[in-house]
Amino acid sequence: MAAAQRIVIENCSIATVDAHDTEYPSGYVVIAGNRIESLGAGRAPDGLENVVRRIDATGHLVTPGLVNTHHHFYQWITRGLATDHNLFGWLVALYPTWARIDEPMVYAAAQGSLAVMARGGVTTAMDHHYVYPRGSGDLSGAIIRAARETGVRFTLARGSMDRSEKDGGLPPDFAVETLDGALAATEETVERHHDSSFDAMTQIAVAPCSPFSVSTELLSRGAELARRLGVRLHTHGSETVEEEKFCHELFGMGPTDYFESTGWLGEDVWMAHCVHMNDSDIAAFARTGTGVAHCPSSNARLAAGIARVPDMLAAGVPVGLGVDGTASNESGELHTELRNALLINRLGAHREAALNARQALRLGTHGGARVLGRAREIGSLEPGKLADLVLWKLDTVAHASIADPVTALVFGAAAPVTASFVNGAQIVDNGRLLHVDEDAVARSTRAQAQRLARITAQG
Ligand SMILES: [Zn+2]
Repeated sequence: MAAAQRIVIENCSIATVDAHDTEYPSGYVVIAGNRIESLGAGRAPDGLENVVRRIDATGHLVTPGLVNTHHHFYQWITRGLATDHNLFGWLVALYPTWARIDEPMVYAAAQGSLAVMARGGVTTAMDHHYVYPRGSGDLSGAIIRAARETGVRFTLARGSMDRSEKDGGLPPDFAVETLDGALAATEETVERHHDSSFDAMTQIAVAPCSPFSVSTELLSRGAELARRLGVRLHTHGSETVEEEKFCHELFGMGPTDYFESTGWLGEDVWMAHCVHMNDSDIAAFARTGTGVAHCPSSNARLAAGIARVPDMLAAGVPVGLGVDGTASNESGELHTELRNALLINRLGAHREAALNARQALRLGTHGGARVLGRAREIGSLEPGKLADLVLWKLDTVAHASIADPVTALVFGAAAPVTASFVNGAQIVDNGRLLHVDEDAVARSTRAQAQRLARITAQG
C-alpha cells in the first residue's frame, strides 16, 4: 500500500475538544490519509514525508467539524410556512403538503439542507426522514446520494409513522405507512446502506417519528429490530406540553416512562428536544445513557420551551445539537446554534451559569459524536481519529478584536469557513462547496418547492 499523503495545517489556534479541553494558541495539525496523525503547539515536526499540501492558517481557529444530530432535510422546500403556530398546529397545517413529496423533491431538499450546513462547518450530518408516501420513489437512496455528493459523513435515521387520525394520532390517514411495511422498509434500508466500520461515511438508525404519530407496537418492534441489526435508535421526545398531555391521556404516563416501557431508553438511543423533562426523567436518561439532540432555534420557533441542558450535562446525559427540520428553523445552520444554545439556556433557570462558550462548542462537536455513537472516531481532534475538521477565519473585522478564539466563534457573528475537511478530504473552500454547484442547488430547490406548492394546491 502506498504511504498515506499528508496535509499540514500550521500557525492556527486549535481547540481540540478532547477530554481535557486542550487548546493551543498557535499550533499545527497533520492529516495523514483520512486520519489525524499528530497535532500540538508550535510548528509541525520537520522531515515529514509525502506532504502534498501545507496550509498557513494564520488568523484561524481549527476545531473538530460540527456534528448535527437532528434534522428533516425534506422540509427545505416547505420553509416559511405556518410561521405563527405551536408544534401540533404547525404539524397539522403541513402534513397535507408533506404527504405529496416525491424523489426529485426530496433529493433537491437534501441538497439544499446539506449545502447550508456543510458550508457552515458541519462535517457529520443526519437526516430523520419519516414521510414515505406510497409510490414516491427511493427517498432514502436519494437522501444518501445527496450526502455522498456533498462529501459529509452521514447518518440517515429511517423514520416512519403508522398512527394516523383514525387511531388517535396526529397525521392524516394518507400520510402513514403500515406497521409491517415500515419495519420491512427500515430493515431493508439498514441492509443496503449501513456501514459499521470505523471510518463509515453512511450509517442508518431506526427512527419511528414520535409518540403521537406511531403505534406502541412500532416503537417496541422498532427497538427490537435495531438491536437485532446492531444500529442506533432515534425519535422525538418530550417536545411540548401538548405531547405530554397526549401521552398521559393515551398511555397513562409521561413520555419518558412511555419510552422506557417500549424499550426506548438506552445508550444506543438518542432523542430530539427533551424539553419537558422532570428530575426523574433526566435521571432515567443519565442512568441509561440515553442521548439528547438539543434544538434551541426550533424549540423557540414553535414556542416549545427551553430544554434543561445544564441539568442534563450535570447528570451526565450525552447532549448534542440539532438544527431540526427547516420548516421550524428556516436558517438550517448549525454553527449559529452554538450561540443560540448558549443564549437560550441563559434565559432558563441557571441564567449566566447555564453554559459557557467551551460547553457550547462541545455540544456541537464531541457531544454530537457521542449521541450518534461515533465518539471513538470523530468529535475531537486527537491522533488516530478521523480527519473531520474546520478552519474558522477569525481575523476579519467581524471577530479580530475578540482575543479568545473560542469566545469569538461562539459569541460572535457566524464565522466564515475557510476550509472544511471530512475523512481527510476538503469539502469547503472559502465558504463554497467544492463538490456541489450551490447556484444550481438554489435553482432546483426553488423549482421543487414551487412544484410541491402547485401539487398541494391542486389537492
Ligand atoms: Zn424534528
